[in-house]
Amino acid sequence: MNLNGIGMTSMRTRKRLIDTLRGMGVSDERVLSAMMETPRHLFVDEGISSHAYDNSSLPIGFGQTISQPYIVALMTQVLLDGKRLKRVLEVGTGSGYQSAVLSKLVGDVYTVERIVPLLKKAKLVHYRLKMRNIHYKLAKGGKFGWSDAGLYDGIIVTAAPVVIPEELYEQLEIGGRMVIPYGTQESQELVLIERTPEGFTRKRLEAVRFVPLIGEA
Ligand code: SAM
Repeated sequence: MNLNGIGMTSMRTRKRLIDTLRGMGVSDERVLSAMMETPRHLFVDEGISSHAYDNSSLPIGFGQTISQPYIVALMTQVLLDGKRLKRVLEVGTGSGYQSAVLSKLVGDVYTVERIVPLLKKAKLVHYRLKMRNIHYKLAKGGKFGWSDAGLYDGIIVTAAPVVIPEELYEQLEIGGRMVIPYGTQESQELVLIERTPEGFTRKRLEAVRFVPLIGEA
């Protein structure tokens, strides 16, 4: 793997993408810098790497996708809310791009994926990029998330359940935030859920389209 990738052109096209995200209302400079520094072209197949800095989702095999950069930026910005989170759970590693962005911004990232080759590939790219604060788990059915690693101050879910699973709420610390899409393949919305001492609050963010979260009862 050539870590320099497509070199200077890539820096120019990355900058253009960051300007697009800023224009769409992403304002957290830490998120924008993390995305500027993260080589998205290494997370997609070489054959489509010339599109890596387009603001669009791209196929990563197995019927899955790397999310649109705007959605990655929006979800990350809402999750962090300007703070430095210690432990973030990501459900749906996919290409590993979202976890790579998060690894620059939070203490530790715990990422869970159900497709073995995707998890292996993501791990390899992270390893080569010397990202050492990402922890991996293969989802084998049963409970969603990674409950035996403790509670999280942030949870980001990058696949959509029809109904938000109860066990994901339970893995959130008091004061913690979860950004998650939910709905059917025809109609989904992205929401922010916050755990308060009294329970949970929910705020609608925007309409989205994610692949389904698999394994619902
Ligand atoms: N965050 C990813 C990235 O940066 O490339 C994009 C993820 S892709 C839109 C959604 C991923 O969720 C797929 O790789 C899919 O296999 C995974 N997935 C679906 N159901 C899952 C489950 N129950 N547990 C873990 N991962 C799941």
